[in-house]
Amino acid sequence: MIIMKFGGTSVADAGRILAVAEIVRAHLERAPVVVVSALAGVTDLLVAAVDAARRGDREALDPVLADLERRHRWALAGSIEDPGRRHDLSLEMDALFEDLRQLLRAVRILGEGTPRSSDALLAFGEALSSRILRASLEERGVRAKLFDPRDVLVTDERHGAAEPDLSEVAARASGRLVPALGRGETPVLGGFVGATREGRTTTLGRGGSDTTAAVLGSALGAEEIQIWTDVDGLMSADPKLVAAARTLDRVSFAEAAELAHYGAKVLHPASIAPAVRRAIPVRVLNSFRPEGRGTEIVEETGGDGASVASVASRGGLATIRVTSSRMRVEPGLFSAVLESLDRRGSVPELMVSSEVSVTVAVPDTAVVAEVEKDLRERARIEIRSGRAIVCLVGSGLAREESARRRALAALAALAPELVSMGGSGSSAAAVIPEDRLGGAVRELHRRFVEDGATGEGKA
Ligand code: ASP
Ligand code: MG
Repeated sequence: MIIMKFGGTSVADAGRILAVAEIVRAHLERAPVVVVSALAGVTDLLVAAVDAARRGDREALDPVLADLERRHRWALAGSIEDPGRRHDLSLEMDALFEDLRQLLRAVRILGEGTPRSSDALLAFGEALSSRILRASLEERGVRAKLFDPRDVLVTDERHGAAEPDLSEVAARASGRLVPALGRGETPVLGGFVGATREGRTTTLGRGGSDTTAAVLGSALGAEEIQIWTDVDGLMSADPKLVAAARTLDRVSFAEAAELAHYGAKVLHPASIAPAVRRAIPVRVLNSFRPEGRGTEIVEETGGDGASVASVASRGGLATIRVTSSRMRVEPGLFSAVLESLDRRGSVPELMVSSEVSVTVAVPDTAVVAEVEKDLRERARIEIRSGRAIVCLVGSGLAREESARRRALAALAALAPELVSMGGSGSSAAAVIPEDRLGGAVRELHRRFVEDGATGEGKA
């Protein structure tokens, strides 16, 4: 069996839901379990509704509710034709919207919401999307069976960021989903939502449907976990910078983690960790172009892949160099820099230190000036704006000394302000002026990705 997870953009409206139903149908012989996110933007609307209710703000609440209801009624109207099925689904929706309104009303009147009530409210997005998808599948002749994720995804009690209990999920999944698969049915369930052992609704954190897919895939020992999204997969470079950028066939978990860090917003690698640990391949696919092969994420790519898989990049950065004013080793200095950033929710993109100084590259926001204010009493601070990071990503960098040598030489040729290598085995990064970023990424991509799959550049 396989897991097929569809993100919000894949089920954004009736047209997309019909496309997803076709994709599922085309995979029936692989015995799919279907996990679906809320319609695109719906969880954001629910968050806005919860906030408005907590503030007791009825004026803000009504239009959000109207918007939510309209989106789902349209999706239903456009994806379900059979009058009986339409009727049944709209009754189910009436009941859900009635519950949603009552819960929001309770929060609004009390003027306070708890993490627990917030989870109960956020769960409506997936309750709605999974019902629409189930009906749409059924209409296409798929024997789809709806499961309540709260009966399967048992979690701890951390509302808003609940952790699934893997062994309990495994027991529930084999008790409920496996028999359905055995009967030739296709289980459909909303992602992102779970429940405590006592049955209280929890959510797994934003983007949590990937976690649902990974946890179910691990629990059931799936042959593959498919993450259907709106891009072709992970890319060898930002296609906005490099026309020759291509979809990567296969990356290691470490490479995927690096790429996610540099803004490939395809999936959060932490969410698929349970599957990767069990050596279940995760494949990222595009529901807008289902004929593509996507990108497969595996634990280790082994020695067969290219040394460098991708040239990642990120602009809009500043560097902050902090030098001890006493020009000698100051034990507290590094932690003072990190604490100052941490207090403002900023994490350095890259960090290089010497005995008396530390330089961090961070997003160029108001935080930079605040960090300077924090530290100027005790250190000399130099700030440079208009910086960017270019980063070679590839397991080969951990594996092959020659690859490391070539990578470092290529980065050195960019006359970078900072270089970092060895922090993570599978990447090497440099900070350069942002106005040189496009040229640098194109040059590195040509040398390491385009000139032969082994990354045998002329560095
Ligand atoms: N609907 C949830 C969110 O938007 C979960 C998900 O899409 O993965 O965060
Ligand atoms: Mg979503």
